[in-house]
Amino acid sequence: MNRNLQSSALELVDRLERDRDLSDEEFFLVLTDDDEEFREYLAARARAVRERVYGKEVYLRGLIEFTNYCKNNCRYCGIRRDNRNAQRYRLTGEEVLASCDTGYALGFRTFVLQGGEDPFQTDDRIVSLITRIKARYPDTAVTLSIGERERESYQRFFDAGADRYLLRHETADQAHYELLHPAEMSFVHRMQCLRELRKIGYQVGCGMMAGSPGQKTEHLVKDLRFLQEFKPEMVGIGPFIPHHDTEYASCPPGTVGLTLKLLSVVRLLLPEALLPATTALGTIDPMGREKGLMAGANVVMPNLSPPQVREKYLLYDNKICTGDEAAECIRCMRARVERTGYQIVVSRGDWHC
Ligand code: SF4
Repeated sequence: MNRNLQSSALELVDRLERDRDLSDEEFFLVLTDDDEEFREYLAARARAVRERVYGKEVYLRGLIEFTNYCKNNCRYCGIRRDNRNAQRYRLTGEEVLASCDTGYALGFRTFVLQGGEDPFQTDDRIVSLITRIKARYPDTAVTLSIGERERESYQRFFDAGADRYLLRHETADQAHYELLHPAEMSFVHRMQCLRELRKIGYQVGCGMMAGSPGQKTEHLVKDLRFLQEFKPEMVGIGPFIPHHDTEYASCPPGTVGLTLKLLSVVRLLLPEALLPATTALGTIDPMGREKGLMAGANVVMPNLSPPQVREKYLLYDNKICTGDEAAECIRCMRARVERTGYQIVVSRGDWHC
């Protein structure tokens, strides 16, 4: 890149950090500029902002994938309803509690109950799970990631003690959403759910895939505008990775470069956001999670599900860490984080407002 263009690109990063805003055209430029010096500068500013807000701390989330049944048919997902090859399972309440026991002893203070939209998991069952976890471990946070429900259900879960809710918006562009999802799924309802969660008082997480089929840079600019307006406490960003049993099996995966760039831009846009360095990022690059931390992420989410079910929760192909015991996962993760100069802390890891 010539000198003038380069300095004006770097100036965009400074302005994004200072104003937490750019024009749509400028966001477009930031997302498409692949100059190495530019990418390094963007990541360095994101790291500086992350360290100003969260220091060198990295928060742990213990992921418990408690059901892989799903009534939905998202086109990109390996556990979609119509995938007859998926081996289905549900963890019992006892198994979920046992995963929490293991996690608590290893220093986890947040448990993420994640699953498909499984009609078997009635509101009563979810309330019971939350209540039991909170009774046994009152100093932990419970995060739900169980998809779209109605406001009354979200309210019941919150009243039972759930603290946070993850619901990726997937894309802020309605036409793109309708490309990725079957007609029975509604963009409007998904956005409505996010607003209800916010009103109830949850710490809310949304997010999108980098490089999903049909995604254009314009869609990502819309995502950034949505995040800027909605101000989620958490933003999950991982690369799209195809699953062999979906119609997108032969689509190219999202890139490490775009994922890292989005993490950095979101860190500058929302300095206090909790941003995970995702398993998907670690799947497309053996050093992906470290790179994510170096680009502004401050959360890691090791898997606490029992090893015998891990390889059945496959949203995409070649998912890493499906064979390890939780203790092994956390040892590996701790070493990875320390190599970046950061450190995992024993903490609920709440949003810093
Ligand atoms: S992405 Fe979620 S809601 Fe969609 S099919 Fe997969 S598990 Fe179900």
